[in-house]
Amino acid sequence: MGSAIVSKLINRRGTLSHEITLGLIALVLGATVFYVDAFTEVESAIAVLYVIVLLLSAEMLTRIGTTLLTIVCAALTLFAYFYSHGLGENVPAQLRLAVSLAAITITCALILRNETARAGLIEANLHLRDSETRYRYIFEHSRIALWERDYSAVRSFLMSLKAEGVSDLKDYYRTNPGVIVACTGLIRTIAANDAAMELLGHMTDGLHSRTMRRYIAPDDDTFLDLMNAIFCGERHFEGKGNLITENGESRLVIMSMSFPEDPTAFNRVVVGMVDITQREMMQKALREAQDELARASRAATVGTLSASLAHELNQPLGAIVVNAQTLLRWLNREPPDLAAVRRSAERIIRDSQRASEIIHNTRSMLTQGDRTPERVDLETLIEETRALMEHDFQRDMVDFDVNPAEMPLKVKAIRIELQQVLINLVTNAVQAMRETAIDRRKILVSLGRKDDIFVSLSVRDFGPGISEEAMAKLFTPFFTTKPSGMGMGLSICRSTLEARGGQLIAGNHPDGGAIFEMIIPIEDDHDQR
Ligand code: ADP
Repeated sequence: MGSAIVSKLINRRGTLSHEITLGLIALVLGATVFYVDAFTEVESAIAVLYVIVLLLSAEMLTRIGTTLLTIVCAALTLFAYFYSHGLGENVPAQLRLAVSLAAITITCALILRNETARAGLIEANLHLRDSETRYRYIFEHSRIALWERDYSAVRSFLMSLKAEGVSDLKDYYRTNPGVIVACTGLIRTIAANDAAMELLGHMTDGLHSRTMRRYIAPDDDTFLDLMNAIFCGERHFEGKGNLITENGESRLVIMSMSFPEDPTAFNRVVVGMVDITQREMMQKALREAQDELARASRAATVGTLSASLAHELNQPLGAIVVNAQTLLRWLNREPPDLAAVRRSAERIIRDSQRASEIIHNTRSMLTQGDRTPERVDLETLIEETRALMEHDFQRDMVDFDVNPAEMPLKVKAIRIELQQVLINLVTNAVQAMRETAIDRRKILVSLGRKDDIFVSLSVRDFGPGISEEAMAKLFTPFFTTKPSGMGMGLSICRSTLEARGGQLIAGNHPDGGAIFEMIIPIEDDHDQR
């Protein structure tokens, strides 16, 4: 039990043999001091030497051990005093006792304080080691490419330029393009994680011999921005740049780094990079495909318009011919009936104007026409759409009914866009009813005010309606259930309306068929009142 306590009191620091030696010396010294103090006539503060015993034992003992040893030393000192001098008054001996006790107590206090400081230091060290390990772990295992780079030389170089009077690095670069090459040669890589190695391609020779010059694309402006950030003393940098990998491939990356406040810490800056090459390429391809399809969809709409153009022009051109023949007849009369000639000429002019308007409308469809918002009377727009699609309605034997609003509704919009959306919805409705019995094939267009801000224009058909599965993907580009469909119409219609603050809502009517509702912002409703 006693030995267990003793061993508990003994610190584990130091080697065992070293501790045993020190312990023995301390024990012998303690015994000698006690013997000399208690049993000899030496008239000096010999008990002060207990201080050495305490110091020798300090390394081996815990705080409690040191305190106990101090008590023991003090007790032995007191015992020796009373043993040698009894209770009588002996001022020099009492002074020596006081000095010895003070020395023992002060030494104990110093040892304890030292011990506290040392324990604090050890703990701080452990924390430091712990956080270094954690940092290393995150650094090594991150899927983000991370580098530790030494930017101290490049910073010094940039600061020396500043000291020489350069105030605008980008301006300086225009006359001294070599400055960037010089900078790239000054940045050294200290460490890189696996993701970074993968990004740049694995290097055959060591990291440390490499500067950044090898990896920076010659036409990359981001590096100049980065240097400028250091030059201006900014604390963070983020940019999108091009890197050249070991095997010469180009990689588009987003890089991010924070610079330390302390200039001496520029020798270890962590740089993070994310490879976005694939993502950018996909997005570019998607954008191109969408543009292409939007063009194709417009062309399809224009196709509908062109088909109706011939049909539309037939009527005014026929009327012009008839009126011209009538005019000639009135002219050939003896005497010519000039009033009738005038009437015919006026009709010819009216019909020519109508023909020219039809051609103009179609051309603006083809060239996207005028794209400034104008007041659009929705009833007129519906009637125009009916006229344009008459041909389709006749071919598919579809009735086109309009449920007008209680009062005329005008919205501020780009006419051609609204017409394109409406033509798309009506075309879909016609196509959806190909399997419907002929006497039920009907498109019902309803117009009404939704609230103070929006107008509702809905297109209802009497086809099979939209299946649950199709409903979920209806507005997704490329979704189609038609053998020759492109699946872009609804997606384009929705984005066209949304771009102007509107909406396109799809649903099924409780009595069957699909219903698409265009929600169009009035924008400025003064004209409505
Ligand atoms: P596309 O007409 O080329 O298929 P859309 O984007 O216009 O492309 O339409 C996508 C799909 O939405 C159609 O293939 C069809 O399945 C469904 N759809 C569109 N309109 C209707 C409708 N009126 N009734 C039923 N389904 C419809």
